[in-house]
Amino acid sequence: MQRPALSIVVPCYNEAACLDQLHARVSAAARASVGEDFELVFINDGSKDDSWGVMQRLSAADPHLVAINLSRNHGHQLALTAGLDLCSGAQILIIDADLQDPPELLVDMRRAMVEQQADVVYAVRRKREGESLFKKATAAAFYRLLDRVTDTAIPLDTGDFRLMSRRALDAFLSLPEQARFIRGMVAWVGFRQVPFVYDRAERFAGETNYPLGKMIRLALDAVTGFSTTPLRLASHLGLWLTAASLLLFLYIAIGFFTGSAVAGWTSTMLVVVLLGAFQMFVLGMIGEYLGRLYVESKRRPLYLVADVAGPVKGRATLGYRFADDEAEVPGE
Ligand code: UDP
Ligand code: MG
Repeated sequence: MQRPALSIVVPCYNEAACLDQLHARVSAAARASVGEDFELVFINDGSKDDSWGVMQRLSAADPHLVAINLSRNHGHQLALTAGLDLCSGAQILIIDADLQDPPELLVDMRRAMVEQQADVVYAVRRKREGESLFKKATAAAFYRLLDRVTDTAIPLDTGDFRLMSRRALDAFLSLPEQARFIRGMVAWVGFRQVPFVYDRAERFAGETNYPLGKMIRLALDAVTGFSTTPLRLASHLGLWLTAASLLLFLYIAIGFFTGSAVAGWTSTMLVVVLLGAFQMFVLGMIGEYLGRLYVESKRRPLYLVADVAGPVKGRATLGYRFADDEAEVPGE
């Protein structure tokens, strides 16, 4: 297969207002880097607005653009997976549709990749413009917590904005899990990965598609996908509670022998309530893992493609297969 030098992969959900500007800016950035030898892969993740209409219009006028329409909203990480499956470039840039990450950095990121002989250049946010204090604070806290509990070193303050080599991407694509925390999975792949510091801009248009609920889900996918520390919580808590109950036993014994009979309704209630809360929490944690195990065991396709506009060169390794795949060896 003839690979383009560069693929730029963009997951889009309700981004109709951004797409024209996005298309112009990523095209310019790609031309400045590799001339005409590039493809753009836009994935419409079941948008409720006219994103797919805009994509079809753009792709009709631009042979570089491959537009993919998923069968429904699958979520950011799966939409991105679809794009990564279907792209074919020798180098791959992942970028958000809202232009918070400037595509113009591509030139410098490619240079960093060559100079530092890296397989992955991941962009690290120094500043985040136009995001609420709450979002910044929760993001900062989350990345630090994640760093403490995970076994894989996942870089701090890094989104999915990154440049990857084909071999790093192929390695990434061999990971089959359903609950996908892509930046963690890329870190897990290894090879040489180097940071690239930049300032994150404001959204060009529209509003965030990551409300608190989705953020919490992503955070849980990250923790459960890369750490079993929470599962060990029960045994740790058990150990400490045993130590505490030994002290309590001492206290009870003293009360018994000095004759000052136990009056403490408050302390009894406290212990009951605390124990109940701990047990619920630990049970919940186990449930998070068990639920994911259940979902994984079903081995459903990660996403389904409804329509494609433009010249797709890559192959879906998971999920959707094109009619002409029958005749070919998968992964060719
Ligand atoms: N996105 C997506 N599917 C979703 C939610 C988001 O494809 O269900 C895309 C969205 O269009 C954008 C990227 O994921 O390109 C990041 O989303 P957003 O900018 O809303 O997140 P934030 O930057 O606020 O964390
Ligand atoms: Mg954004």
